[in-house]
Amino acid sequence: MKLFAIDMDGTLLNEEGKISKVNAEAIRQAQQQGIQVTIATGRAAYDAWTKLEEAELITPVIGANGATVHDVHRRQLTSTPMGRGETFEVLSWLHDNDFYYEVMTDRAIYSPQNGHQLLAVEMDRLLSANSDISLDTLLHAAEKQYEQTGHTRIASYEDIPLDVEIYNVLCFSFDQAKLDRGRERYQSFQGLNMVISSDRNFEVEHRDASKGTALRYLANHLSIPMQEAVAIGDSYNDISMLTMAGRGIAMGNAKDDIKAVCSEVTLTNAEDGVAHALLNILKTVEADTVK
Ligand code: CA
Repeated sequence: MKLFAIDMDGTLLNEEGKISKVNAEAIRQAQQQGIQVTIATGRAAYDAWTKLEEAELITPVIGANGATVHDVHRRQLTSTPMGRGETFEVLSWLHDNDFYYEVMTDRAIYSPQNGHQLLAVEMDRLLSANSDISLDTLLHAAEKQYEQTGHTRIASYEDIPLDVEIYNVLCFSFDQAKLDRGRERYQSFQGLNMVISSDRNFEVEHRDASKGTALRYLANHLSIPMQEAVAIGDSYNDISMLTMAGRGIAMGNAKDDIKAVCSEVTLTNAEDGVAHALLNILKTVEADTVK
C-alpha cells in the first residue's frame, strides 16, 4: 500500500465538519512511514485546503469530484473542465426549474442571489407536509451546504466570468420529486457525468471527470501502480475510486450500495473511521517489513 485516497464529507470530516485530531495524527503517521495520502473530494481544492490547514495537514488534493488534481505544493497537475456551452444549457434548465445550484470554478463557487430564498421555500413546503421532520435538521443541511469557502453570489449564471474554468455544477434540493426529475434528466446526458454525493443533491461534470480517473492520474504521476492504492469513502461519487483502486474501504456510515463494492468496512466518520482503517493498514505494512 503506497497511496491512500480519502473522501472528505461523511468520511474524513466528522459531524462538525472538522478533521479530528485522531484522524490528522493517523495521516501524519502514514506520511512519516512513506505512504502518500491524498484528499479526494467533491469540494473545490481551495475549500479542501481550508480544512487541511485547520488540521495542519499537507496533502495533494483531488477536487471537484476529480475535475482537478493539485500536488502538495498546490500546483495544478491537471483539470477536466466542462464546456461553457453545455454548462450554460444545464444552468438554464436549473434556473427555469427553480433549483438552488453552485457552479464550481477555479476562481470561486458561484450561486444564484435568490438561492437561499429558493431553499427556504422548499424547506417551508417540506415542513408543512411532514410533521416528523424538524426545522433544525433542515437548517443544518442548508448551512452545511453554504459553509464552503469561496462562495460568490451572482444575479444570473450569465454573470460567470468568461475566463474561469468550470468544474462542476451542484444542485441541492429539499424537494424529492424535483431532485428525482433532475437526477433522471442528467443520468445519461450527452457529454456529462452525473454523481450523487448526498441524499439531497446531484452534481454534473465533464464525462471524463471522476474521482477514480483523477486518482489514476495522481498514482501515475507518483509512479505508484493503482493496485497499491487504497480508497476510502461513503457515497456514490466515491464508487469510481473505490472500484479502480487496489482496495476500497467503505465507511461504517456509508450506504449499503457503497459497502457492496468494497472489500471492507471501517467505523463511522463520527468514530474516526479513517484513522481506524489507516492504522490497521500501517500495522500490516510494518508486519510485512519485519518479515
Ligand atoms: Ca462523501
